[in-house]
Amino acid sequence: MPEHAPPPLKPGATIGILGGGQLGRMLAQAAAKLGLHCHIFSPESDSCAFEVVRRSTIADYSDVAALDAFAADCDVITYEFENVPAQCAAFLKSRKPVLPDPAVLERTQDRLIEKDFVSALKIPTAPYAPVHSAAQLQAAVEAVGRPAVLKTRRLGYDGKGQATIARNGDPAAAWRTLREVPCILEGFVAFEREVSVVAARGRDGKVMCFDVTENDHRHHILHHSRAPARIPPALAKDAVRIAERIARAFDYVGVLAVEMFVVRRGGARTLLVNEIAPRVHNSGHWTLDGASVSQFEQHIRAVAGWPLAKPVRHGRVEMTNLIGEEVHEVERWLRQGGTSVHLYGKAEARPGRKMGHVTRVSPEGGRTPKPPRE
Ligand code: AMP
Repeated sequence: MPEHAPPPLKPGATIGILGGGQLGRMLAQAAAKLGLHCHIFSPESDSCAFEVVRRSTIADYSDVAALDAFAADCDVITYEFENVPAQCAAFLKSRKPVLPDPAVLERTQDRLIEKDFVSALKIPTAPYAPVHSAAQLQAAVEAVGRPAVLKTRRLGYDGKGQATIARNGDPAAAWRTLREVPCILEGFVAFEREVSVVAARGRDGKVMCFDVTENDHRHHILHHSRAPARIPPALAKDAVRIAERIARAFDYVGVLAVEMFVVRRGGARTLLVNEIAPRVHNSGHWTLDGASVSQFEQHIRAVAGWPLAKPVRHGRVEMTNLIGEEVHEVERWLRQGGTSVHLYGKAEARPGRKMGHVTRVSPEGGRTPKPPRE
């Protein structure tokens, strides 16, 4: 363990979490299981994480007095979303240990810096080029080709801040729809499937990965995950190695997720890294019911300076998100044997809003329980 590392937390210590969504809520529930307390800091008064913690602060991320009081109450601070303002993270770091180190945020908040970082590790990505001007857009289209995906460098998630450019599409029109902010143009990847690896790295540098997860998106939002992914074992090993290398290169402490595309090149399958999430991730929700230790518990253990355990998967696992109005169908999931239901306690089922998820675990080699009838 590095000399500057804080000592491991004692049971009863308090972990501060920036962000009050479902990820913060499930982190706090995992902390409670281990006898640790959480203090949630969020600007939104209806944050669904508030109701499961002992203390919470409703304040803006630029409110220095509120951040100061929050830091004073916490033994270590972490976050549940990657767009924590840099100044907020720097201020908190001057008061208390912040894990993962905020330097990671600078690299993952900007798609161009993130892609450059991954490329420097000689890990393949889709072809990409920066777009900051009309001239650069033209050059980027020539370099990357069409079809392509134009993405804002910052603040994009769940397909927001993205525009697809068809083979004969108009790049300038796509850039206008993104309000001509700094962007990155990526070659469109005709992927076979999308997979992710959720990795945890402890303060001692040990990395523990969950089995590779396969992810289906609807309207750019994760809809369904299954573990293990239906890919050859050698490719799964490659995926895990990529996540391990990224976690080490960041000197990361906590859980991160690496999203990848599986592509066919000739007869062989290879992986392209799409995105890194420096936090617990929706594609790891299956671990709550489907593994001996969840992604949330691994993150809490890591930031607490506690040992990580190699996760053991309980079988084949399927996770389905309940998005927006789908939460109103919860009753049929509740009646379904072999199904574990998680609701996040959000009041309003807005379109695209993640309201909960359900998990089904079936024995390896056995039959997957059928989803409930429509
Ligand atoms: P992202 O916000 O980058 O994770 O993108 C959201 C989703 O859009 C991904 O999970 C893919 O389904 C799709 N997508 C993103 N980038 C590309 C790309 N370069 N080629 C094809 N599909 C993409």
